[in-house]
Amino acid sequence: MDRYPLLEIDINVIRRNAAAILRECRKRGIEPFAVVKGFNAIPEVMAAMADAGYKTLASSRLQHLAAAKDAGLPVKTLGLRIPMLSEVDDVVRICDISLNSQAETLRALDRASEAAGRVHNVILMKDLGDLREGIFDSGEFIKTAVYIERELRNLHLYGTGTNLTCYGSVIPTNENLSMLAEDTVKIEEAIGRRLEVVSGGGTSSIPLMMSGEMPKKINNLRIGEANALSCDLAGYWQCPIEGLSNRSFVLKAEIIEIGEKPTHPIGKLGINCFGDIPHYEDRGVRRRALLALGAFDVADPGKLIPDDPGIKVLGASSDHMIIDIHDSKCSYKLGDIVSFTLRYQAMLFSTECPCVEKRIIN
Ligand SMILES: *Cc1c(COP(=O)(O)O)cnc(C)c1O
Repeated sequence: MDRYPLLEIDINVIRRNAAAILRECRKRGIEPFAVVKGFNAIPEVMAAMADAGYKTLASSRLQHLAAAKDAGLPVKTLGLRIPMLSEVDDVVRICDISLNSQAETLRALDRASEAAGRVHNVILMKDLGDLREGIFDSGEFIKTAVYIERELRNLHLYGTGTNLTCYGSVIPTNENLSMLAEDTVKIEEAIGRRLEVVSGGGTSSIPLMMSGEMPKKINNLRIGEANALSCDLAGYWQCPIEGLSNRSFVLKAEIIEIGEKPTHPIGKLGINCFGDIPHYEDRGVRRRALLALGAFDVADPGKLIPDDPGIKVLGASSDHMIIDIHDSKCSYKLGDIVSFTLRYQAMLFSTECPCVEKRIIN
């Protein structure tokens, strides 16, 4: 008997998705890195990225990159999150490249590299207004780059980069990425050589690339989501790419209660289990089902897309999820399995959750 909730991970679909993204990037002079944190560095999925042709795997978490190295994958590793001062020795040991923004951390990395007898590659991050990581001021950005080149002997200034969309929801445009390109040209003039990498963001930069408006200077993206899932590019960004499928991750859950109930809670309403005050629409008595799945497995149940278009997700507490099946053409019964494809957040949590069974389909 299968155990549920069950996450089916289709390696062939993922390899094809990753290869399609890689092809679109290379056609436009961009050599991307594959980001593995969104699917929790599942070994078979990391291998699919390498099989698709990715030469560098990236993650914010060093454990993921150590696993990639231990698996012997023929790839370089990139640390995405600005290093903690407390982990610089591990960064130098595990990462071939890291993203950075703080002079003090760079000095610590330089010392760690010297102690390890290595030269560590760094990509200096510029904040173009999304307000997460990166040096905000252009003058300081250029000065720091030159400082790495001239003073930090055990570091190699490998490139420049930026991150958009993640915190400030800023959309990558020709205008904002041109600011990174211009600063990079100034750095190259100051140090007298070209940088290897000018990294213009993640999946959210793909629409700009596809439109042909990406500044020429940008030659790298760090892509996680689009390699694994296709729904957000099409759904959030109106940028469907041919050859991408959303059948890469399919989550299946079992019905544990079924029947008709009112749609509006009865009694005096306060806050729900997470301290929120939701809005409940009164749609009368409707047929619904309770699934053995919850926020513990997927965080926000709204980030699941039911395979059955007649299903509407109503909500979830930690371990129970409620779906409206009134308009479905299927006649569900107790014990039936309901399946969903995933948006990014649901992939992030379900791949990590120990209570979700995983099945690799080859
Ligand atoms: C997570 C992350 C990415 C990848 O983002 P996707 O939207 O999954 O493509 C790229 N760069 C940095 C710095 C990240 O933290």
